[in-house]
Amino acid sequence: MEMFWWISFSFLVGLCIGSFLNVVNHRLPMGQSINDPPRSMCPHCGEPLAARDNIPLLSYLWLRARCRHCHAPISRRYPIVELLGGAMAVACLLRFGPGGQAVLAFALMAVLLAVSGIDIDHRIIPDRVILPAGVLLYPAAVLLTPLTWGQGLAGALAGAGILYLVAAGYRLLARREGMGMGDVKLMVLIGAVLGWQGAVFTLFAAALYGTSAGMLAMLRSGRGLKTAIPFGPFLSLGAATYLLAGPELILCYRQGLIPGAGG
Ligand SMILES: [Zn+2]
Repeated sequence: MEMFWWISFSFLVGLCIGSFLNVVNHRLPMGQSINDPPRSMCPHCGEPLAARDNIPLLSYLWLRARCRHCHAPISRRYPIVELLGGAMAVACLLRFGPGGQAVLAFALMAVLLAVSGIDIDHRIIPDRVILPAGVLLYPAAVLLTPLTWGQGLAGALAGAGILYLVAAGYRLLARREGMGMGDVKLMVLIGAVLGWQGAVFTLFAAALYGTSAGMLAMLRSGRGLKTAIPFGPFLSLGAATYLLAGPELILCYRQGLIPGAGG
């Protein structure tokens, strides 16, 4: 029974954080303040939202996905990000149990969700998110998980270093830009919190997710992939996979249970 309350509580907190991430996602790349104006408003007509129209998930449902004032459709992305926030919070709770480690894992995933949204929209990974996240989460990881300062440093160096070399190699061979420095900075953050094993796992998983998505996109469009797809969301997905199932997947890989693995 107690677990039921924990799950409900986490889901609600996650929904609210997801709602906040929507604001970050919308305002931060425009250089706007996160808390000024304090009220969210309709991006279409600019009318401030009443509290009852700003409740995660529910408002979207009872407004039938339209603004109360101008009836402009509300993007599906708002409830999706809110739901993702809730699902991530519950997943972290189930993985780590109630406590600091679950909060840390959720905090990292929330940062990654915000970064992914901004990367998809604007093709940037803002320092304004990465820097404060690193300053907060790296010491928190040393405090709350078995990670040592040195392991975090090694993770940051390994993650960013490998990605930087791949990006430089690609630039040399393809003579065009593949990944940006934003992705490298994102790997500094991921590596500092997850250590070098987490960083290497994240890079492998991201490459796998990225190539799968790229092939799907090529199949659907029926021609070669010319437009660069943002890599931040795949790195984020890779790191989330490590957080929720990394050690188990590494074990499966070592035991040769995953097809194609050398064993
Ligand atoms: Zn409106």
